[in-house]
Amino acid sequence: MWRKLRIAILLFILAVAVYSNWYDRLSTTDWDETLWIGVFPVNADDGAAGESYIASLTTERIADIERFINEEAHRYGVAIDRPVRVDLYPEVAEKPPLLDADGSMLATMWWSLRIRMYARRNSQPPGRPRPQIRIFVMFHDPSFTRSVPHSVGLQRGLVGVVHAYAERAMTPANNVVIAHEVLHTLGASDKYDIASLAPLYPAGYAEPEREPRYPQALTEIMAGRHALDAHTFEMPASLAEVVVGEATAHEIRWSDVP
Ligand SMILES: [Zn+2]
Repeated sequence: MWRKLRIAILLFILAVAVYSNWYDRLSTTDWDETLWIGVFPVNADDGAAGESYIASLTTERIADIERFINEEAHRYGVAIDRPVRVDLYPEVAEKPPLLDADGSMLATMWWSLRIRMYARRNSQPPGRPRPQIRIFVMFHDPSFTRSVPHSVGLQRGLVGVVHAYAERAMTPANNVVIAHEVLHTLGASDKYDIASLAPLYPAGYAEPEREPRYPQALTEIMAGRHALDAHTFEMPASLAEVVVGEATAHEIRWSDVP
């Protein structure tokens, strides 16, 4: 009797999880109403650089993320006026749990549960609506952080953690990383080689048909870099130099071209 009940409860929890992942996937990529994305700044090291950077942050400073996604969506035929809306939310004091990149599968599963609970706790400040997609941006002081941890975006949970630099000149580059993680939450996959960071051909190329193939001037958003030649890859300075390639557009259901 107990055994049957226990199995029934587990099956129920599993069914709810499967249903909610399916529902999230469908409701965020049907593109028939505006998808609400919240950007939540976090002062990564509690330093003065992060404090003044976050204090000066405005929706205008991150406006190119919304502009980029909407322009690209329209280029692929998404019909609604404003496919996404990107809003700046107040600073979050609690730091998101960190993912150990070399951790076991169990550790990663535990982290993904904790990050979802973290997002739930911290994504509804008083008087503001809860966005569908939550991106927590950890701003690091560039004077004592030369390299930051990997950013992540989860489709299951609709949450992303971006590591960025608390420096005015880095804002356009930070926004490229935020847009990349937003598209991960919508189901887009990476399009670069993990070892060499080379963009994958053809999916990771902005203009795969270009003759001659090099240098590529634009970056595919999920490749993160464009190829100047077969061995030299460069990051874009801003979203003005970035496009959504056909494979990515298909993954996030902007088009039916495989
Ligand atoms: Zn990625």
